[in-house]
Amino acid sequence: MRNWESNVRRVVPYVPGEQPKDNGIIKLNTNENPYPPADGVIKALKDYDADNLRLYPDPSSEELVKALAERYTVKPSQVFVGVGSDDVISMAFMTFFNSNKPIIFPDITYSFYDVWAKVYNIPYKTKPLDENFRINPDDYNCENGGIIFPNPNAPTGVCESLDKIESIIKANPDVIVMIDEAYIDFGGVSCIPLLKKYDNLLVIQTFSKSRSLAGARIGFAIGNEMLIKYLNDVKFSVNSYTMNSLTQKIGVEAVKDESYFKKIVNKIIQTRERTKIKLKELGFTFPDSKSNFIFASHPNKPASEIFEELKRRKIFVRYWDKPMLNNYLRITIGTDKEMDIFFEALEDILRN
Ligand code: PMP
Repeated sequence: MRNWESNVRRVVPYVPGEQPKDNGIIKLNTNENPYPPADGVIKALKDYDADNLRLYPDPSSEELVKALAERYTVKPSQVFVGVGSDDVISMAFMTFFNSNKPIIFPDITYSFYDVWAKVYNIPYKTKPLDENFRINPDDYNCENGGIIFPNPNAPTGVCESLDKIESIIKANPDVIVMIDEAYIDFGGVSCIPLLKKYDNLLVIQTFSKSRSLAGARIGFAIGNEMLIKYLNDVKFSVNSYTMNSLTQKIGVEAVKDESYFKKIVNKIIQTRERTKIKLKELGFTFPDSKSNFIFASHPNKPASEIFEELKRRKIFVRYWDKPMLNNYLRITIGTDKEMDIFFEALEDILRN
């Protein structure tokens, strides 16, 4: 080891899902939306004047913030935008999780939370989910430095009731409770309305799933004005120009087209429900999902084998070789056609 290495901030990084380059694959591994972005987004991309690139973008993404504020009936001063919700959550960890007490999140959850906690030296503790992958709110009724969990949870897809979430926020008035609603549009109930009652709540959402813009990288947080000010203070202390001008423009277009948003979200929900029936027929078990993926396990065939066999057939799903997760596949909902090919492959794999 070199001497200077003792001063290095060394971390074990988060490992994102594979983004294979080859054509003809069926990609059900990173919870992307199988449908294109809204027409307005495509038009804005075509019409974009490249001369704009000479200039720095609007550092406060005012138009996008305004569009989101209107859509969610909050004030613009209650909206913070970032480069994907990963950027928003990372900023929020840096801003709000600064006590010596551990922050808490479930043991099965988005595997980026512990990575951020480690990179920012934030102590953390995990709380077990019950046998149905549900959160026990009593576990969150203890001294802590803050709370975060996704609703619906990832990678389980399980959605908790607003009442349960409210009980957790209510029991923790002295810390910030962040609800990561990356998948909320696929059938869950958002806790944004709870912002009227609780100033310690931060709700985080993304354009990556329900708005078909994973490649554009847009995430946002909605909260009390004070929280948003604190977040902006940190953001402007790290990098003022996080979101480029083209992305700001297409983000506005995506928010404006509510009917297209509803149409593709409903389509994915329909395909998900059909996928549940088919997976059950094939013998899979899974917690009920309200997201755009299903977390499934088969009693007769190890998930690792199914994963490899699917991959051989150019069908990618997500698999983690980790305790508690290693007999599950997380299957993103694709188009009906993609799912039909997937079901056929599964039938074939399970026959052998
Ligand atoms: N939260 C959860 C629970 C997720 O699964 C993801 C997707 N990996 C994200 C946040 C981040 O998504 P993005 O940065 O694309 O908005």
